[in-house]
Amino acid sequence: MKKLFAVAALALAMGAHAQDFPAGKPVTIVVPFAAGGPTDRVARDLAEALRKSLGGVSVIIDNVPGAGSSIGAAKVVRAKPDGYTLLLNHIAMATVPTLVRNLPFKVESDFEYLGIVNDVPMTLISKPAIEAGNYKELTAWIAANKGKINIGNAGVGSASHLCGLLYQSATRTDMTPVPYKGTAPAITDLIGGQIDLLCDQTTNTSPQIEARKVKAYAVTTPKRLTTPLLKDLPTLDESGLKNFQVTIWHGLYAPKGTPAPVLKKLNEAMKAALRDADFIKREEALGAVVATDGRIEPEGHRKFVADEIAKWTPIIKAAGVYAD
Ligand code: ASP
Repeated sequence: MKKLFAVAALALAMGAHAQDFPAGKPVTIVVPFAAGGPTDRVARDLAEALRKSLGGVSVIIDNVPGAGSSIGAAKVVRAKPDGYTLLLNHIAMATVPTLVRNLPFKVESDFEYLGIVNDVPMTLISKPAIEAGNYKELTAWIAANKGKINIGNAGVGSASHLCGLLYQSATRTDMTPVPYKGTAPAITDLIGGQIDLLCDQTTNTSPQIEARKVKAYAVTTPKRLTTPLLKDLPTLDESGLKNFQVTIWHGLYAPKGTPAPVLKKLNEAMKAALRDADFIKREEALGAVVATDGRIEPEGHRKFVADEIAKWTPIIKAAGVYAD
């Protein structure tokens, strides 16, 4: 009897806790890449919008980079499932199950899905000090420098890794991959000329393209972009790489077992954040499109990630790449 009371009291306490969320306590968003990069940028903008929609609580960013996002994602899986620790991750959630053999978590069952945040195109860029001025000339430069070219990425399973692999597979070229903890340090090295090429989100490349610190050759979307800065860049598809398409997306997750009332509050706060005019403006200026469709609901998000896993698995397998 005593035990029953204790269980009931605990359930009540947990329920009361869940109802009170966020109870003035800061919420932490784990970003599984380096500070200053594209995932970090989206997370910081989202954190600001979430701060407003969660009634003014602090929303803190915790950068836990490494292993193409797997280290940060694993940290969230191990976190207390109380709503105070969340994960913002991108397409890696759909690529690491195939690309990484010993993944320390299961994307399908170790997370609560809160919703998709945005879709982000990618751009193929190079260090400034190469002769090429357009995609055709870049192709000639790559052919002339066979065996000497390196390409940066943010680790196995990251968006830049995936894009780089698909690019090499589509062009039948072989470049030396240079992994970083995120594309913030990668783009710094690209500007400095330590690496030659990078395929990265417009949310990171746009300011550098605008400042002419890097050269941009093409976008990875099926259609050209409408952002004024990027609208003249050809697609890789129209540049001869038929059907080349990588558009990445970001989603928000909580550890498995987070109470339903907390998840509901977080999803509602996230949806309000996605309607925040400042957030939308910032995202659009960087070429990103804020999600508004069924994917902003947990079930739509879950289905979308499952569909993305089904879509990317055969493509990654066909490119023949794995990592441990
Ligand atoms: N853009 C990176 C990637 O290639 C990640 C990041 O630094 O945000 O996945």
